[in-house]
Order: sequence, then structure tokens, then C-alpha cells
Amino acid sequence: MKKLRCVKGMHDILPEDISKWHYIENSFRALVGRYRYEEIRTPILEPLDLFIRGIGETTDIVEKEMYAFSDKGNAQLALRPEGTASVIRAFLQNNLDSISTISKLYYIGPMFRRERPAKGRYRQFYQAGAELIGVEEPSADAEIIAMAVHFVETLGIENVTVQINSLGDEDTRPRYRQALVEYFSKLQDNLCTDCIRRLDTNPLRILDCKVTGCAKAGAEAPSVLDFLTRDSSQHFEKLQEYLSLYNISFNVAPGMVRGLDYYTRTIFEIQGAGELLGAQSTIVGGGRYNGLVKQLGGRETPTIGFAFGIERLLLLLGEGANHLKSNFAFVAGVGNGDVTRAIIVAEQLRRSGINVDVPYKQGSLRAQLKRADKSGAVVAIIAGEDEYCRNAVTLRNLKTGEQQEVHLDTLAEKIRELM
Ligand code: AMP
Repeated sequence: MKKLRCVKGMHDILPEDISKWHYIENSFRALVGRYRYEEIRTPILEPLDLFIRGIGETTDIVEKEMYAFSDKGNAQLALRPEGTASVIRAFLQNNLDSISTISKLYYIGPMFRRERPAKGRYRQFYQAGAELIGVEEPSADAEIIAMAVHFVETLGIENVTVQINSLGDEDTRPRYRQALVEYFSKLQDNLCTDCIRRLDTNPLRILDCKVTGCAKAGAEAPSVLDFLTRDSSQHFEKLQEYLSLYNISFNVAPGMVRGLDYYTRTIFEIQGAGELLGAQSTIVGGGRYNGLVKQLGGRETPTIGFAFGIERLLLLLGEGANHLKSNFAFVAGVGNGDVTRAIIVAEQLRRSGINVDVPYKQGSLRAQLKRADKSGAVVAIIAGEDEYCRNAVTLRNLKTGEQQEVHLDTLAEKIRELM
């Protein structure tokens, strides 16, 4: 029978790679914990309406990329394409604002977008992100950016740049929108059909279009920074002062808009360089989305956050992170009979905190040691009948081939020295 394959653009994450995943996830948990963020887990499946209202009906994600369907009870559902809308839904549904005026939440989990698969772009991918809910001040924006930068640095990823911009507030948007419509209307011949449609629906999105003609036209478009209100302008300036306080170098990128409609004021990206990422240079993206809580039925609440794709960070980590695999010992059973002694010794070691593999069935010692070496064990423990009568085993360093008899009472300690 023909073997089945997973869905196009989706991937299995295999044991040989999982240590790098754990490394990224654990580093992220540790880092955001230091800034006192707490984890929230939300369902993968949400009401479709959450993303239509949250992300925006005329964004690419909602228009083209969402896995949306009706279930057998005709409920309109979608696999979540990002984490922020779900976090805010959960924040409101569970009245988290009644517990504290400030909520600091983080999440890690799979997201789904039906994009064209490419290196660094998948249909199921994992995002981790953080949201700071309830703080209007630019110090919150700076903390979120600093945390993201700090995280990328923690992983040892170099040659990244931080791009920041401000999209202003509700007074900025209509005036800027009008300016873009006037500007792009004169250049319609250069725009793709999608962008001609966007002139009516969402002209800001034209600035995000990668089609050559649109990108060229977009490069000369009016700058949103010229349309900021005094408040937004001061917010943006203050943010830049704070970023200097954190020692973060950044570029102001007035043409950057990002793909989701909910952003207001600060937006930022951390971009990587080099061929490892393919055409996908953005590793972290985020910004302020002051309108989203209200949009989803809550009170006006200032909010800022970021998300990064774990797969893209993995591309940058490269092979260097392979050493992160945890060491383990292999206990071989020898002599007549079965693997009883191996099982007893292995269990004693596991209870002392050592990772141990066993042979399960009896075989020649040579074959067992070969298997231990091939599987990557650091040491082999040979539980031979004679030594075992003396409460001892033979400990073999698989790197050097050296062997010594070790009493069971000190075995765990000796193994630790070799690991
Ligand atoms: P966004 O939610 O679009 O702001 O994206 C935030 C981050 O998620 C990006 O910077 C990427 O690292 C990652 N990301 C977004 N879309 C994909 C995708 N289709 N495949 C892999 N990673 C993605």
C-alpha cells in the first residue's frame, strides 16, 4: 500500500533535531521569565471571526492564507494563523484585567498559514511570542524590543538589525491613507492587480507588496512619519531614547508596515542576514496594537508584543547547536541468562539522575558495545556476573576505550565525571 505523507508545507520534527527545539524553547522561557512574563496556552482552533475582526479582513493572512472551514455542526472555525488575537481573546474571556492592570503573557505553539512553501516559510510553523497588556508608555515598547533583541543575542545569532517605525494612531491613519491613495493612483500602471484592488480596500498593504513594480513605487511613497500626531511623534522619540538606554542599535524604517492590520504606533522587526534564511529575512516581528482589545469586545487597552518563528531561528543556529544533545550511558548485559542485571543497574542510575539506555535483549558483548557507540552513548556499563557478585560493574569510556571496575555505590558519581 502507498505510504501516506504529511500535508504539503508541513513537517515532522524528528528526534535528531529536537534538542535544538528544546534549546530555543527553554532559552525563551528562561529569558521572558526574567522579565516576569507568564505562559498562556490557548486552543489551536478558534472561531473564524476572531481573526477576521482581529487581524483584518483585507490582510493577506485572512484573505488568502487562513485554514478556515465549517465543522460538522456548521461552526465557522480557523486554525490560528498567529498568537496575538488568541491571547487577547483569552485575556478578555478570562477577565485577566480584573486580576491586575498589567498582564505580561507569553506563548509557544504551532501556527498555520497557507502560504507558498519556501525555505523559512511553512504552512505549519511554530511561533513564540510575548504580549505586554495595559501599558501605554514607550518604556513598554522599549522593554518588548529589548527582550526580543536580548533573546536573539542569547542564542548567539549575529549580524541582525533592528528596524523600527511608527504607524501613528487613529488620527494618523485616515490622513496617511488618503496620501497613499493619491500617490499610488498616479502609478496604477506599475501596480499588480492585487495592489490596484488594495487602493480601495487597504492602501497601506501596498507598501508590503513584494512584486517589483509595487516595491519600486512604494520606495518613493509618502512617509508615515510625516503624518504622526504630536503624541505619536513624542512616543516614537521617547522609545528611541529608551532603546539607547538598553544599548540597542536600530534603524528607523519609514516604509515598513508589517502584514497585520492591528498595529498602531510602534512596529519593529529583527532581520537576519545571509543565505541561511533564503528570502525570509524577518526573524522577529512585533509592535503596538492599542485597538485590538476594543476590537475584540473589551475596553480600550494599550498593548504591545512580538512573535518570532522558531524554524527561522533554527536556520540561523545551524549545526553549532548539535552539542546540546544530552549525554547518556548504555548498560550492557553479559553472561548467561537475560538482561536482568542491566535493567537493575540502569534503573539505579536513572534514579540518580543519569540518562540510560538498555539492550532489551541479550546479545554478544561486542554487538552491544557497537550499538552503544553507534547510538552516541558516552559510557558503557558492563554488568558482568563476576563483578556484580562484588556489587561492582565495569565502566567503559566509549571515547577512549579505557575500562575500570567501579563499585555500584560510586557508579553514578564516576559516570558524571566522564560526561
Ligand atoms: P508575523 O506573525 O507575520 O508578524 O510573523 C512573525 C514571525 O513569525 C516572522 O518573523 C517569522 O519568523 C515567523 N513566520 C511568519 N510566517 C511564517 C511562515 N509561514 N513560516 C515560518 N515562519 C513564519
